[in-house]
Amino acid sequence: MNQPNTILFLVNPFAGTGNAPNAANYAINVMQQNGYDTELLVSKDLGDLSKFTSLFKVEKICKIAVVGGDGTMFEVVNAIMQNQQWIKIPIVAFPCGTGNAFSYDTGFLTVKKATKLLLNGKVKLLDIAEVKTNGKTYWSFNSVGCGMVAHTNKLAEKLRWLGGYRYIIASLLAIISKTTIKAKVTFNDQVYDKEYCAMLACNTRYVGKAMLVAPFAKLNDGLIDFVILHKASRFKLLMLLPKMFSGKHLKSTSIKLVQTNHIKIETETPQLLNIDGEVIGNTSFEIIMFHQKLNVICEL
Ligand SMILES: [Mg+2]
Repeated sequence: MNQPNTILFLVNPFAGTGNAPNAANYAINVMQQNGYDTELLVSKDLGDLSKFTSLFKVEKICKIAVVGGDGTMFEVVNAIMQNQQWIKIPIVAFPCGTGNAFSYDTGFLTVKKATKLLLNGKVKLLDIAEVKTNGKTYWSFNSVGCGMVAHTNKLAEKLRWLGGYRYIIASLLAIISKTTIKAKVTFNDQVYDKEYCAMLACNTRYVGKAMLVAPFAKLNDGLIDFVILHKASRFKLLMLLPKMFSGKHLKSTSIKLVQTNHIKIETETPQLLNIDGEVIGNTSFEIIMFHQKLNVICEL
């Protein structure tokens, strides 16, 4: 049987500043000039891209290009995890969103660089986290958060017109309307029952727009870098915010960083949960890190 030679482009024109279709056109041309066949699926509505697993034949596809943002990647990763025959197909993330957490981590932050990666890059197996909540399972490549980080993301979604600044403005608004979360948190055989401002379980080093929340996180060590922000004053939170872009926030006594492969967070009242930028409501949840599950092209 012939080797598969088709690259599947999954394109989200609504991501970031809307340059995904142009980026895809550029990359499709380059791939065709290099002897690849291409297939294209352009999203018209939320959830459209996750249908690719039934629209295309997996035997024909050799690579997948995800042209959009972190939300687009989340959609595609979850579709792949639910249709395991697709898990062997390597994927490339194109930086066409607002945040582009994956591209920040791998350093492929331009369309040209991502195209090179798609053409000649090496495949690596990267970690992925399973998130269980209210009987549902989600898969996270980026980060899972609750408390202020989830509120920030919900606000940022409403502020898309602000472009990249939406995360900073949303963070400031979340600090002003400061909410805390009372939770029983279990990790590394220890149980903590306290009040927190936020908790963020990171697989990537970067979160949101260029926020270096977990500077030591590695994409393939089987561990979650779990950043806990204890209850703190608005003033302290305001001082912390700019430090999150350089990783200096970790020096604060309000912040604890631990590495683990399993976190359970139980809350008495429903809380917002943020999985790779997607905000959902729930009561309690469990995060399990899986070691090297996802085929990602992320190195030249
Ligand atoms: Mg890790």
